[in-house]
Amino acid sequence: MEMFKPLDIKAEEKEQKNIPKSSEKVSCLIIGSGPAGYTAAIYTARANMKPVLIQGMEPGGQLTTTTDVENFPGYPKGITGPAMMEDFKKQAERFGTDIRFGLVTQTDLSGETHKVIIDGNHEIETDTLIIATGATAKYLGLDSEKKFMGHGVSACATCDGFFYKGLDVAVVGGGDTAAEEALYLSGICKKVYLIVRKNYMRASKVMQERVERTENIELLYEHVTKEIIGTDVVTGAILEKQGKEKVEIKIDGFFVAIGHKPNSEIFQKYIETDVTGYIKTIQGTTKTNVKGVFACGDVQDSNYRQAITAAGSGCMAALDAERYLAEKK
Ligand code: NDP
Repeated sequence: MEMFKPLDIKAEEKEQKNIPKSSEKVSCLIIGSGPAGYTAAIYTARANMKPVLIQGMEPGGQLTTTTDVENFPGYPKGITGPAMMEDFKKQAERFGTDIRFGLVTQTDLSGETHKVIIDGNHEIETDTLIIATGATAKYLGLDSEKKFMGHGVSACATCDGFFYKGLDVAVVGGGDTAAEEALYLSGICKKVYLIVRKNYMRASKVMQERVERTENIELLYEHVTKEIIGTDVVTGAILEKQGKEKVEIKIDGFFVAIGHKPNSEIFQKYIETDVTGYIKTIQGTTKTNVKGVFACGDVQDSNYRQAITAAGSGCMAALDAERYLAEKK
């Protein structure tokens, strides 16, 4: 069985719509500056591939929106997300990675080498392209949610659950992620409210049953979060029950688990993804359907989504790219 469908790119689509003002040729281009991108940079730089790394929309990636990181090996006392990403960056720079601000605005991955346009005006042609653009957690869009980000609001129970040991928390969402996060938190916290907007969960049956069987999880069906309340940190949430009644719950943490969006759109004309947009890679590698293009980190991982697994796959992408170049010679 073939892993990837053949490419179907119309000739006119290959044409660049905007003529870039400048151009250059490199052997390794990395897009994204989270743990995956920087790890790929460290390895490719040390392999003398002279990588250029484009930081993207959120320099440092998702970890810059968290406070303490306590589960990344090598930091026995923990470290803040932004400080850890600064360390990653310094280590990549130490070996000569050319790190630049910028956004990918166009790609042409149809040829032997790959062309990427940065900020609409600079073209980088590269022998190998490492996509490490990550995923973005979806949020409810409440002002209070923004206000308490990193101070009681989180989109990752595995990352932040420990800070709520013995306390009451809420998880919002009705899919497998929400069920999984609620179950994880139920082992740490005193009580977990699971806020589901419909009168049923979308999560798989087995996960729903596990949630229902867990004594300290209270399912709140047909509840919609209207506001997260507190002064400096979260102390509660106001919910609306069945579109009518207002309910207040007292909580110390609010976990949003309504899905993630992989940042793969700009590559989707060429790179095969699953229905949700996660880039498909050949199992056990970071190879995509396009030769010389590799994907690592959360943009290709809907399952683990941890800094350490992203960093691990960044290393794999660097080694895959290095071997690809060696075989081409
Ligand atoms: P899903 O898209 O499956 O579920 C998102 C959930 O969030 C839905 O219940 C949805 O509600 C709810 N939601 C969306 N927007 C809002 C909102 N504004 N307010 C309140 N609720 C909202 O995302 P998941 O991240 O849960 O899962 C993604 C994929 O990953 C799935 O295929 C899942 O099966 C898989 N997965 C598998 C796991 C495993 O096998 N261990 C673990 C985690 C994920 P509604 O239903 O009303 O639309």
